[in-house]
This record gives sequence, C-alpha cells and structure tokens, in this order.
Amino acid sequence: MWIDTHCHLEAPEFAGDEDALAQQAAALGVSQIVIPAIDHDSFARVAALAQRQPNCSYALGIHPLYVPQAVDADLDALRQALAARLSDPKLVAMGEIGIDFFIPEYTTSPLRERQEHFFVEQLKLAREFELPVLLHIRRAQDTILKHLRRIRPPGGIAHAFNGSLQQAQAFIELGFKLSFCGTCTYERAQQVRRLAAELPLESLVIETDAPDLAPVWLHGQRNSPLVLPQIGQTLAALRGIAPESLAQATTANALAAMPRLAALMSR
Ligand SMILES: [Zn+2]
Repeated sequence: MWIDTHCHLEAPEFAGDEDALAQQAAALGVSQIVIPAIDHDSFARVAALAQRQPNCSYALGIHPLYVPQAVDADLDALRQALAARLSDPKLVAMGEIGIDFFIPEYTTSPLRERQEHFFVEQLKLAREFELPVLLHIRRAQDTILKHLRRIRPPGGIAHAFNGSLQQAQAFIELGFKLSFCGTCTYERAQQVRRLAAELPLESLVIETDAPDLAPVWLHGQRNSPLVLPQIGQTLAALRGIAPESLAQATTANALAAMPRLAALMSR
C-alpha cells in the first residue's frame, strides 16, 4: 500500500482522466492520493474530485507561484473554506503553500514580500485550524525554516525535498516529513538520491507531484499517480531495503504527518 502525498490530479493536464487514473492507481496499490489546491478557483475542484474517489483526499491553500494573481480577499476566502470544510473528513492538510526563489522575478520586490506575506498568513491559518502544511520550497529553505520556527504550524511535509542535509535535519527537528519524488530516478540527481538513501526512514514520504516531475522513464511526458509504486521501488533500491518495507514505512509516516488522513483511512 502506497500513499501519494502530493499529486495535482485536478490539473487541466488530466481533464477527463482524473477518475480513471484514481481507480487505476488504486488497483496498483496507491491507497490514497492527496490533491493540493493551487489557488482560490481550485478549492472547489480538489474537494469535488476527492469526494468522487474513495482513494482521494485534498488540501486547501494558495501556491506561491499563484500569488501574483491572488488578492488579499483570497486569504479570507481560504479561511472561510477551511472553516466550512473542517467537518469534511477528506480535508487532510493545508497546501500547497510555500516560497519560490527559483524564478528570478519572484526573488525581488514586490513579489518577494508578497510571497512571504501569503506564506505567513497561511501558516497562521494552519495553526488556527490545526492542519499540517504541504510545503513548496525552491531555493527558500532557510526563509521557510525561519517562518516555521516563529509560527510553528502543526508539522506537515516538505514536498519534492531538494535541500541540504543540514536543512533536512532542521525540517525533521520541526516535526516535518520530507517527500521524495520522480527526481530520485535520475542518476544525476546525486544530492537528492543521497538524502533519500541516508535520511532516517521515519522521516520519508513519497509523492508523484503529477503532472510535473516525471520519473526518468517518462521524461518530458505527463507524469501520473500510476508511477508511485515504481518511485517507491527506486527509493527502496537506493536504501537497500525491500519495497514492501519502504511502502509500509512511508505510509505510516504520511499518516503521522496528516492525522486527519489516518482518521479517514481507518473509517
Ligand atoms: Zn505541487
């Protein structure tokens, strides 16, 4: 049994295929797919898709790359959506939220401050609603860590983790799990592969980030949740353990990071 802790199954790339893919993934042992929102418009879409498929759940949040189009009223709308949907067992986290300093125009004023503003306000909501956070972090590990230390949301997952060993340890100390994806299947991704091999097993979860971050055998193509077991097998091979052991550990870790998902799956 595998849990895809981060998959944008509601993305336009999957239009018309979402339900079939969720069912095919279930047949391959993907027992849960967590679908993060990206902007205000996507809140209802991710919730509706999760409602339709037994192995789908969702998170609500505003993605850092969608901050330019977002307005402050979207934060109020997010707060209202969280309050309204807190009784929905399929809501398991807040996400996708974070900071992106990889794209140059996002690193300078005013977008830099605007990203941090949205991130901080959403961390406060995570605290208020006691929801774990699904973090998007590109070249912003230390800025993110600074805000996490100050606001202390109830843990979560650093998605598609791509930082240093020291940064990984800082996230672990703050109660976060680190998520590994198709990037691990590329031999040239040495630092990520080393982390995936050496970090404590109890800190790892896995994801596809589909339709993005395709594994090496799908390079340049649409990624999908169907490849999650193969990503897990790659990770298990890097660690020299059986795929079943990695599946069991990463499932337990995902449930520990998202207690509402654990409650959902034990219903
Ligand atoms: Zn994402």
